[in-house]
Amino acid sequence: MQATLRTSFEVLAMRLAQLLLIAPLVISLPEAGHAEGDCSGALGTARTLGVGTEGGLEIGLKSYPRTLALAEGEFVLTFDDGPLPATTGLVLDALKRECVKATFFLVGRNAQANPDMVKRMLREGHTVGHHSYSHPALTLRGISDAAARSEIDRGFAADDQAAYGEAGGPRVPFFRFPGFADTRTLDDWLASRNIAVFGADLWASDWYPMTPAAQLALLMGRVDKAGRGIILLHDTRAQTAAMLPAFLAALKERGYRIVHIVPRAGRSETLPAPPGWSSETEAALTKIMPRLLQSEHGERAAIEPR
Ligand SMILES: [Zn+2]
Repeated sequence: MQATLRTSFEVLAMRLAQLLLIAPLVISLPEAGHAEGDCSGALGTARTLGVGTEGGLEIGLKSYPRTLALAEGEFVLTFDDGPLPATTGLVLDALKRECVKATFFLVGRNAQANPDMVKRMLREGHTVGHHSYSHPALTLRGISDAAARSEIDRGFAADDQAAYGEAGGPRVPFFRFPGFADTRTLDDWLASRNIAVFGADLWASDWYPMTPAAQLALLMGRVDKAGRGIILLHDTRAQTAAMLPAFLAALKERGYRIVHIVPRAGRSETLPAPPGWSSETEAALTKIMPRLLQSEHGERAAIEPR
């Protein structure tokens, strides 16, 4: 289960991390200082931003040359791959304590298995987006276009069934490709359905095993450097769930503000990437995909009868 939830991109990133020997930094994890249900001393949600998806939208500087029009100091929290009972509940608890609204990009089969958790996300005011049905190990780029469309649509249906009790979807037209492995054809298909493709502006690299304290130090360094943006985390990672209360406390301490994104009609204003931009995920995928497909064919050859 764990292996299939991990994208090839993430697996490669993990190997690179091991090579780079990211050393755990020793820092303390402060406790949240106010009671649940009381938002007066909490980080809170500074504003809600309607995201118009008419004609499609591709945002997130790790993959695309444009991103959301956030002001300096504003961040959007996004969580991928859940819900999983062991960790997603802790993430929701931490967000609730700090009165923070986030966006969850669900894996359809996890939503199907944990509908109560999806309903809790809605009840607590979060946005429920989509991340394919099964998060295929080969990514959607590594399977046929027809199979990829089916993965995407099955994901929408499973998520919406879990969330709203009906699969008419997607009700929230926000999609993120597993491993950021999009294709032009799929991007255009989603755009023709007025569905936004979300990348990320920064991430926690929480696919690398590390202590919550190391995770926090790494992420806060990136937050300070970026100054604003869409943050990618994984609510399926125990280290992320463990770090989250301290992360939210650190954001508050440094005066950063949380923006909650929700769908709206029309088109969105976006900001361009800085000059000299290039897609970090595309560079990684160009290296990974041939190896990934080769290993799959190798495995198939080994198990196929002659
Ligand atoms: Zn994912």
